[in-house]
Amino acid sequence: MPRVLNLTGARLHADAVLTCDAAMTLHRPGTVDIDDDGRIKWSGPTGDAPARAPGVEHRVEGLLMPGLVNAHGHAPMIALRGLGEGLPLHRWLTEVMWPREARLRADDIVAATSLAASEYLCYGVTTTCEMYFHPARIATALRSAGMRGVVAAAIMEAAPEWLGDWRSQLDGVARFVEECPSDPLITPMIGAHSAYLVGDDALRAVGDLARLQQLAVTIHVAESAHESDSLSAAHGGASVPRLLADLGLFDGVRVLAAHAVWLDDADIELFARHGVAVAHCPGSNAKLASGTARVRDLRTAGVPVALGTDGAASGDDLDIWEEARLAALLARLQADDATALQAADAIAMATREGAAALGVDAGTLAPGRFADILRIDLRDPGFVPHLDDADLLAHLLWSVPRRAIRDVWVAGRHVVVDGECTTVDVDAAAAAVQATAARIAG
Ligand SMILES: [Zn+2]
Repeated sequence: MPRVLNLTGARLHADAVLTCDAAMTLHRPGTVDIDDDGRIKWSGPTGDAPARAPGVEHRVEGLLMPGLVNAHGHAPMIALRGLGEGLPLHRWLTEVMWPREARLRADDIVAATSLAASEYLCYGVTTTCEMYFHPARIATALRSAGMRGVVAAAIMEAAPEWLGDWRSQLDGVARFVEECPSDPLITPMIGAHSAYLVGDDALRAVGDLARLQQLAVTIHVAESAHESDSLSAAHGGASVPRLLADLGLFDGVRVLAAHAVWLDDADIELFARHGVAVAHCPGSNAKLASGTARVRDLRTAGVPVALGTDGAASGDDLDIWEEARLAALLARLQADDATALQAADAIAMATREGAAALGVDAGTLAPGRFADILRIDLRDPGFVPHLDDADLLAHLLWSVPRRAIRDVWVAGRHVVVDGECTTVDVDAAAAAVQATAARIAG
């Protein structure tokens, strides 16, 4: 195959195609047709492909599958990667994160997001939901990296002074949405930090703006036990989800709750009733000892559960494969049941269910979806032995390392070529982030 392979208006044949549809259908060999707009036109067994190919035909080795979806990230926090090692959440936030974030400047954001994008893409993540300040700069960096982004402009009341009060921040969100480039790669969203850092009036206003502009909202919910206890005491015993529901945030608004660790049965039922999705961040939650979200209970109740890396400050690497593995491991330990979350479930959460939680046309290799595609090298020793399709799915989750992700396309554009991200100047971005980190250390 040529080194750079543009897939728009092309037909791609491969040894295997894992569609990540509800049945986790695997075609061997398989074929995917892509239209001129970078969407999938057809996918299926090679023998059933339509007589007329959309254009040029290519044959590649290995397995094609949809790009992975990160439902909760803070890309610019790559400049704070791994800091505050060993501190619990509250001390980690107040002593290490917030003082440094207050010194972050708008012009730090593009390089940091670009570096994060190159890392995401090399891990096979083609869509990310980003919650942070300076959303326009995040959108610019993601577009330039050729990565799909759901960009949530963040509101936070206990914020650095330069951000202004919540009303001016909300004006900023509305401005970002208005000025957001009309590009299928970027979807704007509102990011309310959390019920502990955004007050009742501001949360009501977030709901109003979301309904008015038909925007989804993402918010950290019940990440730590301490957060739930103190908020609950201040609101007559109501849990964080109940409090958000009472403020009208779930009425006619698509909400994505990040973390959602400390939920009781009534909270889960509330989420299910209002169609609230969860971005499960098992690595970050485990590292900060925040707890383990009730993933099996959420999924059983019909709550869509996606996976999130969280920011690199607590998630360290930006690897959704690792989150999928951790999700399965922790769900099994929590339930004391090895069947609690199967390999196919974890892969679905990283692809189809993640895309559904974000409302993005990706996550499966099906007609109409964006051609966000990974090529995985089936010759990798991590696939040996495999005798049937179930082995292949299991190896994909448990034993196949990042090195097996050889090529990544977003809307048919080749953004990782033979393991290397070609859309970001990684050395320049890394040098800029290194300089930023030194400056904000104070
Ligand atoms: Zn977060």
